Amino acid sequence: TQLDTLDIIVLSVILIATAAYFTKGKLWGVTKDPYANSFANTNGLKAGKTRNIIEKIEEAGKNCIIFYGSQTGTAEDYASRLAKEGKSRFGLETMVADLEDYDYDNLDQLPEDKVAFFVLATYGEGEPTDNAVDFYEFITGEDASFSESADPPLGTLKYVTFGLGNNTYEHYNSMVRNVDKALTKLGAHRIGDAGEGDDGAGTMEEDFLAWKEPMWAALAKKMGLEEREAQYEPIFGITEREGLTKESHEVYLGEPNKMHLEGSARGPFNAHNPYIAPIVESREIFNVKDRNCLHMEVDISGSNLSYQTGDHIAIWPTNAGQEVDYFLDILGLTEKRDAVISVKALEPTAKVPFPTPTTYDTIARYHMEICAPISRQFVATLAAFAPDESSKAEMTKLGQDKDYFHEKVSKYHYNLAGLLRSVGGGQKWNNVPFSAFIEGLTKLQPRYYSISSSSAVQPKKISITAVVESQLIPGRADPFQGVATNYLLALKEKQNGEPNPKPFGVTYEICGPRKKYDGIHVPVHVRHSNFKLPSDPSKPIIMIGPGTGVAPFRGFVQERAKQAEEGETVGKTILFFGCRKRSEDFMYESEWEERKKALGDAFEMPIAFSRDGPKKVYVQHLLKERSKEINELLEKKAYVYVCGDAANMAREVNTVLAQIISEQRGIPEAKAEEIVKNMRASNQYQEDVW
Ligand code: FAD
Repeated sequence: TQLDTLDIIVLSVILIATAAYFTKGKLWGVTKDPYANSFANTNGLKAGKTRNIIEKIEEAGKNCIIFYGSQTGTAEDYASRLAKEGKSRFGLETMVADLEDYDYDNLDQLPEDKVAFFVLATYGEGEPTDNAVDFYEFITGEDASFSESADPPLGTLKYVTFGLGNNTYEHYNSMVRNVDKALTKLGAHRIGDAGEGDDGAGTMEEDFLAWKEPMWAALAKKMGLEEREAQYEPIFGITEREGLTKESHEVYLGEPNKMHLEGSARGPFNAHNPYIAPIVESREIFNVKDRNCLHMEVDISGSNLSYQTGDHIAIWPTNAGQEVDYFLDILGLTEKRDAVISVKALEPTAKVPFPTPTTYDTIARYHMEICAPISRQFVATLAAFAPDESSKAEMTKLGQDKDYFHEKVSKYHYNLAGLLRSVGGGQKWNNVPFSAFIEGLTKLQPRYYSISSSSAVQPKKISITAVVESQLIPGRADPFQGVATNYLLALKEKQNGEPNPKPFGVTYEICGPRKKYDGIHVPVHVRHSNFKLPSDPSKPIIMIGPGTGVAPFRGFVQERAKQAEEGETVGKTILFFGCRKRSEDFMYESEWEERKKALGDAFEMPIAFSRDGPKKVYVQHLLKERSKEINELLEKKAYVYVCGDAANMAREVNTVLAQIISEQRGIPEAKAEEIVKNMRASNQYQEDVW
């Protein structure tokens, strides 16, 4: 038979797709993971660098590799701290390694006098972090095959593990638990306990500190290491660049990478390379003086970014100018803030976490979490550089005493500058090597927001719904302000030409490096999620999203309304929403009316007002009230979606659903809980919580 042109095109597409599938895109350099490090600068391996970890440690003369699986930077930060401590206290030759940068099939060749650490965060519903997906699949896979095929394969491997998790999630610390199990099964020997830190209980840092001491003792015993007096040794060297000024074109003033510096930023836009997106609209959606909730529309039409309903957008914030000023001031760097410096790793395996040459001002503004909670261990490190003996004694005490630290620091939400100011009475801390801050502070992280629009309705415009983080702290004069949301608030005020009631806001460098973000732009990337509507619109859905948890459901309901308008049969669409008062924080009130017109009786929106009447009503109560109906919908295989507060709401909703199933079907609670578990496993119950 003869093939016509169309057949040939179709066949070619199939062939190419098949080849792409079987080669995982390797043939043409497509990375299978859209978040893989496409931009190899300071963060990634440079082209041509080895993926062979054994080769790497031999070349660099290392005997301790600290692998990390990190999503928000904390695991990476802990890995660096362990590396530093292993070296300074025990003389280990440590290196930190991104799991994404190496192959694992030769872990069986790691010599016996060496040790591997795995510092692993669990993400979302028990998933590995993006950079640990391949490792996780390999190590837990049934047929993980190693280069030497010994039996057991990892019989000579010594390892240490610490996991970062959140007990409010169903699969608490499942990454570290499963990896630990897999390694043991493969014959490897764990040293010390498999540590677990709990972000849900707010004890991550303390769990880490409590775990590492016995671990070091066990490791020292096993490897015959001797502890020595820890001496601070900088990892990064800072050189002033006399010939350069901040006007010099090669100086980074906040541009995230070389393409941005050279004005040639192009995709793929991802966690290493943001798109500088125009904000086309921004407005306030609360009706109350002391709280703000922002609605923003971000235009991605100028990029190759795309999103699907239920995905997340990441906002790359900058620190507030006022905080940058405080930080530079207390370190005695105000005069030098615009001096151009180069930062180099003094350690061949360390990576400078931002591009250089740059300035102190830029580092503080664009690259470090200068406002975040401070680690107690870091406080102990800084003690050695205190401006006087009493500050030194105070820092040492804070470093050692968990309760004292809470009383003096955590309780007030102090950031580093606040702490140094309070301990030293305003004296400058100019003896601290700047490297210590690069090591001790996390790099500034993008913040994620559940996209609140539907990609079917507005494919090139992403909506954001964000509550501005501002808390009054007893005993503290100024309120505590979140980094990203106050930056967004300042952008909104600039865009709308609003007089700024809070001087805090205006000190953001709204226009960005070299005014490249002027005309109201914000750096973003998109993260795809598994939080998805059923592909069949006639399936009933139950959404539970109080407060900003309503964000993705605005998108879900938009999408179902469009489907209804297009004549499709749309199943029952119930949205349980909750807020304080109808007159204050009932978000998008008029929009729901519009959707109702399209969806008719298929759409219902029960609302729990917690401060509008004599009784506090929450979404969980409304679910209970509708037990019979909920159970019937579940029996019809309705999809359940929960979004918002992980600590209390999501957990309670889970419990209430099990209670409803138990009561309505007359079965024991344990059995009902099992049903809810199975619903999760089959994606009939999905969470997007934080
Ligand atoms: P940050 O500065 O990051 O502070 C956040 C919190 O950290 C503070 O409230 C405080 O508890 C603690 N903290 C920070 N600094 C200190 C300190 N010095 N001392 C003690 N404690 C401190 N939010 C929304 O509004 N809408 C959404 O749709 C949304 N979707 C999300 C989806 C996902 C998947 C995730 C992970 C989060 C989502 N969030 C959403 C939350 C959002 O990402 C941010 O965490 C939130 O907006 C606060 O950011 P911020 O930079 O303003 O606050």
